[in-house]
Amino acid sequence: MAEIKVESPNVKYTEDYIEARYAYQTTKVRVEGKNIIATPKEETYVFRTDRRVPKLGVMLVGWGGNNGTTVTAAVLANKMGMSWNTKEGVHTADYLGSITQASTVSLGLGPCGEMFVPMKTLLPLVDANDIEFDGWDISGMNLGDAMKRAKVLDYNLQMQLYPYMSKLKPRPSVYIPDFIAANQRSRADNLLSGSLEEIVHQIRADIQDFKAKKNLDKVIVLWTANTERFADVRDGLNDTAENLLNSIKRGESEISPSTLFAVASILEGVTYINGSPQNTFVPGVIELAEKKRVYIGGDDFKSGQTKLKSVLVDFLVSAGIKPVSIVSFNHLGNNDGENLSAPETFRSKEISKTNVVDDMVNSNSILYKPGEKPDHVVVIKYVPYVGDSKRAMDEYISEIMMGGRNTIAIHNTCEDSLLASPLILDLAIIAEICERIEFRLETESEFHRFNAALSILSFLCKAPLAPRGTPVINAFFKQRACIENIFRACIGLSPINNMALEYKHE
Ligand code: NAD
Repeated sequence: MAEIKVESPNVKYTEDYIEARYAYQTTKVRVEGKNIIATPKEETYVFRTDRRVPKLGVMLVGWGGNNGTTVTAAVLANKMGMSWNTKEGVHTADYLGSITQASTVSLGLGPCGEMFVPMKTLLPLVDANDIEFDGWDISGMNLGDAMKRAKVLDYNLQMQLYPYMSKLKPRPSVYIPDFIAANQRSRADNLLSGSLEEIVHQIRADIQDFKAKKNLDKVIVLWTANTERFADVRDGLNDTAENLLNSIKRGESEISPSTLFAVASILEGVTYINGSPQNTFVPGVIELAEKKRVYIGGDDFKSGQTKLKSVLVDFLVSAGIKPVSIVSFNHLGNNDGENLSAPETFRSKEISKTNVVDDMVNSNSILYKPGEKPDHVVVIKYVPYVGDSKRAMDEYISEIMMGGRNTIAIHNTCEDSLLASPLILDLAIIAEICERIEFRLETESEFHRFNAALSILSFLCKAPLAPRGTPVINAFFKQRACIENIFRACIGLSPINNMALEYKHE
Protein backbone atom coordinates (compact mmCIF):
# COMPACT_ATOMS: atom_id res chain seq x y z
CA MET A 1 0.00 0.00 0.00
CA ALA A 2 1.34 3.46 -0.97
CA GLU A 3 2.80 5.43 1.94
CA ILE A 4 1.74 9.03 2.52
CA LYS A 5 4.57 11.50 2.81
CA VAL A 6 3.84 15.12 3.68
CA GLU A 7 6.00 17.75 2.02
CA SER A 8 6.02 20.75 4.32
CA PRO A 9 8.52 22.77 6.35
CA ASN A 10 6.24 22.05 9.33
CA VAL A 11 6.63 18.28 9.13
CA LYS A 12 9.78 16.38 10.00
CA TYR A 13 10.33 12.65 9.63
CA THR A 14 13.04 10.90 11.65
CA GLU A 15 13.60 7.17 11.77
CA ASP A 16 11.50 6.94 14.94
CA TYR A 17 9.08 9.87 14.81
CA ILE A 18 6.85 12.08 12.69
CA GLU A 19 6.90 15.56 14.18
CA ALA A 20 4.41 18.16 12.93
CA ARG A 21 3.80 21.83 13.77
CA TYR A 22 0.09 22.38 13.60
CA ALA A 23 -2.05 25.54 13.64
CA TYR A 24 -5.07 24.74 15.82
CA GLN A 25 -7.83 27.21 15.02
CA THR A 26 -10.84 27.58 17.30
CA THR A 27 -13.45 30.22 18.08
CA LYS A 28 -13.99 31.47 21.61
CA VAL A 29 -17.50 32.74 22.36
CA ARG A 30 -18.85 34.93 25.16
CA VAL A 31 -22.14 36.68 25.86
CA GLU A 32 -22.09 40.40 26.62
CA GLY A 33 -25.52 41.84 27.33
CA LYS A 34 -27.54 41.23 24.18
CA ASN A 35 -24.50 40.37 22.09
CA ILE A 36 -22.70 37.11 21.46
CA ILE A 37 -19.05 37.86 20.80
CA ALA A 38 -16.99 35.35 18.78
CA THR A 39 -13.20 35.61 18.74
CA PRO A 40 -11.03 33.52 16.43
CA LYS A 41 -8.08 31.90 18.20
CA GLU A 42 -5.02 30.19 16.81
CA GLU A 43 -2.47 28.20 18.78
CA THR A 44 0.49 26.29 17.46
CA TYR A 45 0.81 22.71 18.64
CA VAL A 46 3.55 20.19 18.02
CA PHE A 47 2.42 16.59 17.47
CA ARG A 48 4.92 13.77 17.77
CA THR A 49 3.98 10.26 16.62
CA ASP A 50 6.16 7.24 17.23
CA ARG A 51 6.55 5.49 13.86
CA ARG A 52 7.68 2.16 15.34
CA VAL A 53 4.73 -0.20 14.98
CA PRO A 54 4.61 -2.55 17.98
CA LYS A 55 3.68 -6.21 18.02
CA LEU A 56 0.20 -5.95 19.57
CA GLY A 57 -1.74 -8.48 21.57
CA VAL A 58 -5.42 -8.06 22.43
CA MET A 59 -6.89 -9.90 25.40
CA LEU A 60 -10.65 -10.25 25.34
CA VAL A 61 -12.72 -10.75 28.46
CA GLY A 62 -15.53 -12.99 27.16
CA TRP A 63 -13.23 -14.52 24.51
CA GLY A 64 -15.50 -17.54 24.06
CA GLY A 65 -18.59 -15.45 23.29
CA ASN A 66 -20.04 -14.53 19.90
CA ASN A 67 -17.94 -11.38 19.50
CA GLY A 68 -14.79 -12.95 20.93
CA THR A 69 -14.87 -15.99 18.66
CA THR A 70 -15.98 -14.01 15.60
CA VAL A 71 -13.25 -11.38 15.76
CA THR A 72 -10.57 -14.01 16.43
CA ALA A 73 -11.84 -16.12 13.52
CA ALA A 74 -12.06 -13.10 11.22
CA VAL A 75 -8.45 -12.10 11.86
CA LEU A 76 -7.24 -15.69 11.35
CA ALA A 77 -9.23 -15.97 8.12
CA ASN A 78 -7.87 -12.65 6.83
CA LYS A 79 -4.31 -13.50 7.88
CA MET A 80 -4.49 -16.81 6.02
CA GLY A 81 -6.36 -15.33 3.04
CA MET A 82 -9.20 -17.83 3.42
CA SER A 83 -12.12 -18.04 1.03
CA TRP A 84 -15.20 -20.26 1.28
CA ASN A 85 -18.26 -21.28 -0.69
CA THR A 86 -21.63 -19.79 0.10
CA LYS A 87 -24.89 -20.23 -1.79
CA GLU A 88 -24.11 -16.93 -3.55
CA GLY A 89 -20.62 -18.07 -4.62
CA VAL A 90 -17.09 -17.81 -3.24
CA HIS A 91 -16.46 -15.27 -0.51
CA THR A 92 -13.03 -14.08 0.62
CA ALA A 93 -12.20 -12.84 4.14
CA ASP A 94 -12.49 -9.07 4.57
CA TYR A 95 -12.75 -6.35 7.19
CA LEU A 96 -15.93 -4.57 6.12
CA GLY A 97 -17.31 -2.39 8.91
CA SER A 98 -13.92 -1.39 10.27
CA ILE A 99 -13.21 2.33 9.92
CA THR A 100 -9.44 1.77 10.03
CA GLN A 101 -9.40 -1.19 7.61
CA ALA A 102 -12.23 -0.47 5.18
CA SER A 103 -12.87 3.29 5.12
CA THR A 104 -11.13 6.05 3.21
CA VAL A 105 -10.52 9.72 3.91
CA SER A 106 -10.08 12.64 1.59
CA LEU A 107 -6.38 13.54 1.60
CA GLY A 108 -6.65 16.64 -0.60
CA LEU A 109 -7.01 17.69 -4.21
CA GLY A 110 -5.20 15.62 -6.82
CA PRO A 111 -4.98 16.14 -10.59
CA CYS A 112 -8.44 14.62 -11.05
CA GLY A 113 -10.20 16.19 -8.05
CA GLU A 114 -10.51 15.03 -4.49
CA MET A 115 -8.11 12.18 -3.70
CA PHE A 116 -9.22 9.51 -1.22
CA VAL A 117 -6.82 7.23 0.62
CA PRO A 118 -7.42 4.39 3.09
CA MET A 119 -7.66 5.82 6.60
CA LYS A 120 -5.01 3.36 7.73
CA THR A 121 -2.41 5.00 5.49
CA LEU A 122 -2.54 8.35 7.33
CA LEU A 123 -0.52 7.06 10.29
CA PRO A 124 1.62 3.96 10.96
CA LEU A 125 -1.18 1.89 12.50
CA VAL A 126 -0.93 -1.72 13.62
CA ASP A 127 -2.10 -4.02 10.81
CA ALA A 128 -5.24 -5.92 11.87
CA ASN A 129 -3.74 -9.14 10.49
CA ASP A 130 -0.79 -8.87 12.89
CA ILE A 131 -2.85 -8.74 16.09
CA GLU A 132 -2.49 -11.74 18.42
CA PHE A 133 -5.52 -12.73 20.51
CA ASP A 134 -5.89 -14.27 23.93
CA GLY A 135 -8.43 -13.87 26.71
CA TRP A 136 -10.61 -15.10 29.51
CA ASP A 137 -14.06 -16.67 29.69
CA ILE A 138 -16.14 -18.22 32.45
CA SER A 139 -17.00 -20.89 29.87
CA GLY A 140 -14.02 -23.15 29.27
CA MET A 141 -15.09 -24.32 25.81
CA ASN A 142 -12.28 -24.12 23.23
CA LEU A 143 -12.71 -21.41 20.60
CA GLY A 144 -13.39 -23.88 17.81
CA ASP A 145 -16.46 -25.27 19.58
CA ALA A 146 -17.39 -21.82 20.87
CA MET A 147 -17.34 -20.55 17.27
CA LYS A 148 -19.77 -23.35 16.35
CA ARG A 149 -21.93 -22.51 19.38
CA ALA A 150 -22.08 -18.87 18.22
CA LYS A 151 -23.57 -19.83 14.81
CA VAL A 152 -22.30 -16.65 13.20
CA LEU A 153 -19.90 -17.71 10.44
CA ASP A 154 -20.70 -19.81 7.38
CA TYR A 155 -20.28 -23.57 7.89
CA ASN A 156 -17.58 -23.89 5.23
CA LEU A 157 -15.49 -21.21 6.87
CA GLN A 158 -15.98 -22.76 10.31
CA MET A 159 -14.63 -26.06 8.96
CA GLN A 160 -11.47 -24.37 7.69
CA LEU A 161 -10.95 -22.44 10.89
CA TYR A 162 -11.74 -25.23 13.34
CA PRO A 163 -8.25 -26.81 13.46
CA TYR A 164 -6.75 -23.43 14.43
CA MET A 165 -9.56 -22.17 16.65
CA SER A 166 -9.91 -25.41 18.62
CA LYS A 167 -6.32 -25.04 19.88
CA LEU A 168 -7.27 -21.77 21.61
CA LYS A 169 -8.72 -22.00 25.10
CA PRO A 170 -9.89 -19.12 27.27
CA ARG A 171 -8.17 -18.53 30.59
CA PRO A 172 -10.32 -18.96 33.74
CA SER A 173 -12.21 -15.84 34.76
CA VAL A 174 -14.02 -14.14 37.61
CA TYR A 175 -17.64 -15.12 38.08
CA ILE A 176 -19.74 -13.17 40.55
CA PRO A 177 -23.27 -14.44 39.80
CA ASP A 178 -24.98 -11.36 41.19
CA PHE A 179 -23.60 -9.18 38.37
CA ILE A 180 -24.96 -11.05 35.34
CA ALA A 181 -28.21 -12.86 34.60
CA ALA A 182 -28.92 -16.13 36.44
CA ASN A 183 -29.35 -17.80 33.02
CA GLN A 184 -25.56 -17.61 32.50
CA ARG A 185 -24.79 -19.96 35.38
CA SER A 186 -24.76 -23.11 33.24
CA ARG A 187 -21.78 -21.91 31.18
CA ALA A 188 -19.69 -20.92 34.20
CA ASP A 189 -17.23 -23.84 34.36
CA ASN A 190 -13.86 -22.08 34.00
CA LEU A 191 -13.45 -20.00 37.11
CA LEU A 192 -10.78 -18.22 39.08
CA SER A 193 -10.92 -18.76 42.80
CA GLY A 194 -9.43 -16.80 45.68
CA SER A 195 -9.90 -13.35 47.14
CA LEU A 196 -10.58 -10.31 44.96
CA GLU A 197 -6.98 -9.23 45.49
CA GLU A 198 -5.68 -12.65 44.40
CA ILE A 199 -7.91 -12.46 41.33
CA VAL A 200 -6.44 -9.08 40.37
CA HIS A 201 -2.95 -10.57 40.76
CA GLN A 202 -3.90 -13.53 38.58
CA ILE A 203 -5.26 -11.27 35.81
CA ARG A 204 -2.03 -9.29 35.91
CA ALA A 205 -0.03 -12.54 35.75
CA ASP A 206 -2.12 -13.64 32.73
CA ILE A 207 -1.35 -10.38 30.90
CA GLN A 208 2.37 -10.82 31.60
CA ASP A 209 2.24 -14.46 30.54
CA PHE A 210 0.57 -13.67 27.18
CA LYS A 211 3.03 -10.85 26.52
CA ALA A 212 6.02 -13.08 27.23
CA LYS A 213 4.73 -16.16 25.37
CA LYS A 214 3.93 -14.26 22.18
CA ASN A 215 6.88 -11.90 22.50
CA LEU A 216 4.60 -8.85 22.34
CA ASP A 217 5.55 -5.22 22.75
CA LYS A 218 2.13 -4.23 23.98
CA VAL A 219 -1.19 -5.61 25.19
CA ILE A 220 -4.67 -4.08 25.23
CA VAL A 221 -7.50 -5.59 27.29
CA LEU A 222 -11.08 -5.31 26.04
CA TRP A 223 -14.30 -6.38 27.79
CA THR A 224 -16.69 -8.15 25.42
CA ALA A 225 -18.16 -10.37 28.12
CA ASN A 226 -21.79 -10.29 29.19
CA THR A 227 -23.40 -7.06 30.22
CA GLU A 228 -23.32 -6.66 33.98
CA ARG A 229 -25.81 -4.82 36.14
CA PHE A 230 -24.69 -1.38 37.30
CA ALA A 231 -22.57 -1.43 40.44
CA ASP A 232 -23.44 0.92 43.31
CA VAL A 233 -21.21 3.95 43.51
CA ARG A 234 -20.71 4.82 47.17
CA ASP A 235 -18.45 7.04 49.21
CA GLY A 236 -15.71 4.95 50.75
CA LEU A 237 -16.36 2.00 48.40
CA ASN A 238 -15.26 2.98 44.90
CA ASP A 239 -15.34 6.78 44.83
CA THR A 240 -11.55 7.23 44.82
CA ALA A 241 -8.65 5.11 43.60
CA GLU A 242 -7.47 4.53 47.15
CA ASN A 243 -10.92 3.53 48.42
CA LEU A 244 -11.40 1.18 45.48
CA LEU A 245 -8.07 -0.58 46.05
CA ASN A 246 -8.89 -0.91 49.76
CA SER A 247 -12.34 -2.29 48.93
CA ILE A 248 -10.68 -4.92 46.74
CA LYS A 249 -8.36 -5.80 49.65
CA ARG A 250 -11.37 -6.16 51.95
CA GLY A 251 -13.23 -8.27 49.35
CA GLU A 252 -16.27 -5.98 49.12
CA SER A 253 -19.16 -7.66 47.31
CA GLU A 254 -20.14 -4.60 45.24
CA ILE A 255 -16.93 -4.63 43.16
CA SER A 256 -17.87 -6.04 39.74
CA PRO A 257 -15.77 -8.48 37.70
CA SER A 258 -15.34 -5.85 34.98
CA THR A 259 -13.99 -3.35 37.52
CA LEU A 260 -11.50 -5.99 38.72
CA PHE A 261 -10.31 -6.45 35.11
CA ALA A 262 -10.03 -2.68 34.65
CA VAL A 263 -8.03 -2.28 37.86
CA ALA A 264 -5.70 -5.17 36.99
CA SER A 265 -5.08 -3.75 33.50
CA ILE A 266 -4.44 -0.24 34.78
CA LEU A 267 -2.03 -1.51 37.43
CA GLU A 268 -0.30 -3.42 34.63
CA GLY A 269 -0.07 -0.21 32.55
CA VAL A 270 -2.32 -1.71 29.89
CA THR A 271 -5.13 0.17 28.08
CA TYR A 272 -8.57 -1.14 29.05
CA ILE A 273 -11.66 -0.81 26.84
CA ASN A 274 -15.23 -1.56 27.88
CA GLY A 275 -17.42 -2.87 25.06
CA SER A 276 -20.51 -3.33 27.26
CA PRO A 277 -22.80 -0.80 28.90
CA GLN A 278 -22.19 -1.36 32.63
CA ASN A 279 -20.50 1.27 34.82
CA THR A 280 -17.12 -0.47 35.06
CA PHE A 281 -15.52 2.96 35.18
CA VAL A 282 -16.64 3.94 38.67
CA PRO A 283 -14.92 7.15 39.86
CA GLY A 284 -12.17 5.14 41.59
CA VAL A 285 -11.21 3.44 38.29
CA ILE A 286 -11.09 6.76 36.46
CA GLU A 287 -8.88 8.28 39.14
CA LEU A 288 -6.60 5.22 39.12
CA ALA A 289 -6.24 5.45 35.33
CA GLU A 290 -5.41 9.16 35.56
CA LYS A 291 -2.85 8.57 38.31
CA LYS A 292 -1.16 5.70 36.46
CA ARG A 293 -1.50 7.50 33.08
CA VAL A 294 -3.18 4.52 31.46
CA TYR A 295 -5.91 4.82 28.83
CA ILE A 296 -9.45 3.66 29.44
CA GLY A 297 -12.15 3.75 26.75
CA GLY A 298 -15.80 2.83 26.33
CA ASP A 299 -18.63 2.26 26.94
CA ASP A 300 -20.62 -0.25 24.86
CA PHE A 301 -19.88 -0.88 21.18
CA LYS A 302 -21.88 1.44 18.92
CA SER A 303 -22.64 -1.10 16.25
CA GLY A 304 -26.15 -1.02 14.76
CA GLN A 305 -29.29 0.70 15.94
CA THR A 306 -27.46 3.34 17.98
CA LYS A 307 -25.01 4.07 15.18
CA LEU A 308 -27.92 4.74 12.87
CA LYS A 309 -29.59 6.86 15.56
CA SER A 310 -26.49 9.02 15.91
CA VAL A 311 -26.64 9.63 12.14
CA LEU A 312 -30.37 10.09 11.82
CA VAL A 313 -30.95 12.44 14.74
CA ASP A 314 -27.90 14.45 13.66
CA PHE A 315 -29.44 14.73 10.19
CA LEU A 316 -32.90 15.71 11.47
CA VAL A 317 -31.81 18.24 14.09
CA SER A 318 -29.13 19.81 11.88
CA ALA A 319 -31.70 20.13 9.06
CA GLY A 320 -34.02 22.04 11.39
CA ILE A 321 -36.50 19.17 11.75
CA LYS A 322 -37.68 18.37 15.29
CA PRO A 323 -37.65 14.70 16.40
CA VAL A 324 -40.32 14.37 19.13
CA SER A 325 -40.64 10.60 19.55
CA ILE A 326 -37.99 7.91 19.07
CA VAL A 327 -38.99 4.34 19.81
CA SER A 328 -36.54 1.48 19.32
CA PHE A 329 -37.54 -2.18 19.46
CA ASN A 330 -34.94 -4.94 19.33
CA HIS A 331 -35.15 -8.67 19.37
CA LEU A 332 -32.25 -11.05 19.30
CA GLY A 333 -31.65 -14.68 20.13
CA ASN A 334 -27.98 -14.99 21.03
CA ASN A 335 -26.50 -15.43 24.49
CA ASP A 336 -26.20 -11.64 24.86
CA GLY A 337 -29.97 -11.43 24.30
CA GLU A 338 -30.59 -14.11 26.90
CA ASN A 339 -28.43 -12.28 29.43
CA LEU A 340 -30.24 -9.02 28.67
CA SER A 341 -33.60 -10.66 29.39
CA ALA A 342 -32.93 -10.12 33.12
CA PRO A 343 -34.24 -6.71 34.26
CA GLU A 344 -31.01 -5.53 35.91
CA THR A 345 -28.71 -6.21 32.95
CA PHE A 346 -31.34 -4.82 30.55
CA ARG A 347 -31.34 -1.62 32.63
CA SER A 348 -27.59 -1.13 31.91
CA LYS A 349 -28.29 -1.43 28.17
CA GLU A 350 -31.32 0.84 28.38
CA ILE A 351 -29.29 3.60 30.04
CA SER A 352 -26.50 3.34 27.50
CA LYS A 353 -28.95 3.38 24.58
CA THR A 354 -31.07 6.33 25.71
CA ASN A 355 -28.55 9.13 26.27
CA VAL A 356 -27.30 9.06 22.71
CA VAL A 357 -29.34 11.94 21.33
CA ASP A 358 -28.64 14.45 24.11
CA ASP A 359 -25.85 16.46 22.48
CA MET A 360 -27.76 16.76 19.20
CA VAL A 361 -30.96 17.87 20.93
CA ASN A 362 -29.08 20.36 23.12
CA SER A 363 -27.37 21.84 20.06
CA ASN A 364 -30.58 23.37 18.67
CA SER A 365 -32.30 25.89 20.93
CA ILE A 366 -34.66 26.86 18.10
CA LEU A 367 -36.24 23.41 18.19
CA TYR A 368 -36.03 22.56 21.88
CA LYS A 369 -36.64 24.71 24.97
CA PRO A 370 -34.08 24.24 27.80
CA GLY A 371 -34.60 20.79 29.31
CA GLU A 372 -36.99 19.66 26.54
CA LYS A 373 -36.22 16.28 24.96
CA PRO A 374 -37.91 13.90 22.53
CA ASP A 375 -39.73 10.91 24.06
CA HIS A 376 -37.19 8.10 23.75
CA VAL A 377 -38.00 4.47 24.56
CA VAL A 378 -35.88 1.36 24.06
CA VAL A 379 -37.26 -2.20 24.21
CA ILE A 380 -35.16 -5.39 23.95
CA LYS A 381 -36.66 -8.88 23.79
CA TYR A 382 -35.02 -12.30 23.70
CA VAL A 383 -36.26 -14.46 20.82
CA PRO A 384 -34.01 -17.56 20.55
CA TYR A 385 -34.95 -18.45 16.96
CA VAL A 386 -33.31 -15.38 15.38
CA GLY A 387 -29.94 -16.21 17.02
CA ASP A 388 -27.21 -13.66 16.36
CA SER A 389 -29.24 -12.10 13.56
CA LYS A 390 -30.56 -9.16 15.50
CA ARG A 391 -33.65 -7.22 14.47
CA ALA A 392 -33.85 -3.53 15.28
CA MET A 393 -37.01 -1.59 14.46
CA ASP A 394 -37.15 2.12 14.98
CA GLU A 395 -39.83 4.73 14.59
CA TYR A 396 -38.86 8.39 14.48
CA ILE A 397 -41.67 10.96 14.56
CA SER A 398 -40.63 14.54 13.84
CA GLU A 399 -42.41 17.83 13.59
CA ILE A 400 -41.99 19.56 10.26
CA MET A 401 -43.18 22.88 8.87
CA MET A 402 -46.63 24.31 9.67
CA GLY A 403 -47.81 21.56 11.98
CA GLY A 404 -46.80 18.69 9.69
CA ARG A 405 -45.57 15.31 10.96
CA ASN A 406 -42.86 13.14 9.48
CA THR A 407 -42.63 9.49 10.52
CA ILE A 408 -39.63 7.39 9.55
CA ALA A 409 -39.78 3.65 10.26
CA ILE A 410 -36.66 1.53 9.90
CA HIS A 411 -36.15 -2.22 9.96
CA ASN A 412 -32.61 -3.39 10.39
CA THR A 413 -31.49 -7.04 10.36
CA CYS A 414 -27.98 -8.41 10.55
CA GLU A 415 -25.60 -10.58 12.53
CA ASP A 416 -24.76 -8.57 15.61
CA SER A 417 -21.27 -10.01 16.03
CA LEU A 418 -20.30 -9.20 12.44
CA LEU A 419 -20.99 -5.55 13.28
CA ALA A 420 -19.22 -5.64 16.65
CA SER A 421 -16.07 -7.52 15.55
CA PRO A 422 -14.67 -4.79 13.27
CA LEU A 423 -15.31 -2.29 16.07
CA ILE A 424 -13.17 -4.40 18.41
CA LEU A 425 -10.33 -4.14 15.91
CA ASP A 426 -10.79 -0.37 15.50
CA LEU A 427 -10.94 0.20 19.25
CA ALA A 428 -7.68 -1.67 19.75
CA ILE A 429 -5.91 -0.14 16.74
CA ILE A 430 -6.93 3.46 17.47
CA ALA A 431 -6.24 3.14 21.21
CA GLU A 432 -2.82 1.71 20.35
CA ILE A 433 -1.80 4.57 18.04
CA CYS A 434 -2.96 7.03 20.72
CA GLU A 435 -0.32 5.48 22.98
CA ARG A 436 2.24 6.62 20.39
CA ILE A 437 0.94 10.18 19.92
CA GLU A 438 2.11 13.04 22.11
CA PHE A 439 1.46 16.73 21.72
CA ARG A 440 2.34 20.07 23.28
CA LEU A 441 1.82 23.75 22.72
CA GLU A 442 4.85 25.06 20.85
CA THR A 443 5.62 27.23 23.88
CA GLU A 444 5.76 24.24 26.24
CA SER A 445 8.80 22.06 26.72
CA GLU A 446 7.09 18.82 27.75
CA PHE A 447 4.86 16.66 25.56
CA HIS A 448 1.47 15.47 26.88
CA ARG A 449 -0.52 12.33 26.28
CA PHE A 450 -4.28 12.36 25.76
CA ASN A 451 -6.40 12.37 28.91
CA ALA A 452 -6.78 8.89 30.43
CA ALA A 453 -10.45 8.84 29.32
CA LEU A 454 -9.75 8.30 25.64
CA SER A 455 -12.67 10.15 24.07
CA ILE A 456 -11.32 9.81 20.51
CA LEU A 457 -12.90 6.33 20.73
CA SER A 458 -16.39 7.90 21.00
CA PHE A 459 -17.18 7.03 17.37
CA LEU A 460 -17.12 3.36 18.33
CA CYS A 461 -19.07 3.65 21.60
CA LYS A 462 -22.75 4.05 22.49
CA ALA A 463 -22.10 5.88 25.75
CA PRO A 464 -18.75 7.58 25.18
CA LEU A 465 -16.42 8.11 28.09
CA ALA A 466 -14.99 11.62 28.07
CA PRO A 467 -12.61 13.38 30.46
CA ARG A 468 -14.46 14.60 33.55
CA GLY A 469 -16.25 17.91 33.00
CA THR A 470 -15.87 17.84 29.20
CA PRO A 471 -18.66 17.48 26.64
CA VAL A 472 -19.77 14.04 25.45
CA ILE A 473 -20.18 13.89 21.67
CA ASN A 474 -22.57 11.31 20.21
CA ALA A 475 -23.16 12.82 16.76
CA PHE A 476 -21.73 10.41 14.19
CA PHE A 477 -20.04 12.81 11.78
CA LYS A 478 -18.45 14.91 14.53
CA GLN A 479 -17.05 11.74 16.08
CA ARG A 480 -15.66 10.55 12.77
CA ALA A 481 -14.19 13.97 11.98
CA CYS A 482 -12.45 13.89 15.38
CA ILE A 483 -10.52 10.72 14.47
CA GLU A 484 -9.76 11.89 10.96
CA ASN A 485 -8.64 15.38 11.98
CA ILE A 486 -6.44 14.21 14.86
CA PHE A 487 -4.76 11.77 12.45
CA ARG A 488 -4.33 14.65 9.95
CA ALA A 489 -2.91 16.94 12.66
CA CYS A 490 -0.27 14.31 13.44
CA ILE A 491 1.04 14.73 9.89
CA GLY A 492 0.61 18.51 9.85
CA LEU A 493 -2.49 18.65 7.63
CA SER A 494 -5.40 20.97 8.35
CA PRO A 495 -8.94 19.54 8.65
CA ILE A 496 -10.83 19.07 5.39
CA ASN A 497 -13.16 22.11 5.37
CA ASN A 498 -15.38 21.03 2.46
CA MET A 499 -15.51 24.63 1.16
CA ALA A 500 -14.01 23.62 -2.21
CA LEU A 501 -13.46 27.27 -3.14
CA GLU A 502 -11.28 26.07 -6.03
CA TYR A 503 -14.46 25.02 -7.77
CA LYS A 504 -16.70 27.88 -6.75
CA HIS A 505 -15.24 31.11 -8.14
CA GLU A 506 -16.66 32.56 -11.34
P1 NAD B 1 -21.92 -13.52 24.33
O1 NAD B 1 -22.88 -13.80 25.43
O2 NAD B 1 -21.93 -14.39 23.14
O3 NAD B 1 -20.42 -13.51 24.90
C1 NAD B 1 -20.10 -13.08 26.17
C2 NAD B 1 -19.11 -14.06 26.78
O4 NAD B 1 -18.71 -13.54 28.03
C3 NAD B 1 -19.69 -15.44 27.05
O5 NAD B 1 -18.88 -16.42 26.43
C4 NAD B 1 -19.65 -15.57 28.57
O6 NAD B 1 -19.39 -16.89 28.98
C5 NAD B 1 -18.53 -14.62 28.91
N1 NAD B 1 -18.52 -14.07 30.28
C6 NAD B 1 -19.54 -13.64 31.04
N2 NAD B 1 -19.07 -13.13 32.19
C7 NAD B 1 -17.73 -13.23 32.15
C8 NAD B 1 -16.68 -12.86 33.01
N3 NAD B 1 -16.92 -12.32 34.21
N4 NAD B 1 -15.41 -13.08 32.63
C9 NAD B 1 -15.14 -13.67 31.43
N5 NAD B 1 -16.09 -14.04 30.57
C10 NAD B 1 -17.36 -13.83 30.93
O7 NAD B 1 -22.17 -11.98 23.95
P2 NAD B 1 -21.69 -11.18 22.64
O8 NAD B 1 -22.77 -11.21 21.64
O9 NAD B 1 -20.33 -11.64 22.27
O10 NAD B 1 -21.64 -9.70 23.23
C11 NAD B 1 -20.65 -9.41 24.20
C12 NAD B 1 -20.92 -8.10 24.87
O11 NAD B 1 -20.84 -7.05 23.91
C13 NAD B 1 -22.31 -7.99 25.52
O12 NAD B 1 -22.21 -7.37 26.78
C14 NAD B 1 -23.04 -7.11 24.58
O13 NAD B 1 -24.08 -6.37 25.21
C15 NAD B 1 -21.94 -6.19 24.10
N6 NAD B 1 -22.30 -5.53 22.85
C16 NAD B 1 -22.46 -6.27 21.71
C17 NAD B 1 -22.81 -5.64 20.53
C18 NAD B 1 -22.94 -6.44 19.26
O14 NAD B 1 -22.69 -7.61 19.25
N7 NAD B 1 -23.30 -5.82 18.15
C19 NAD B 1 -23.01 -4.27 20.52
C20 NAD B 1 -22.84 -3.55 21.70
C21 NAD B 1 -22.46 -4.21 22.85
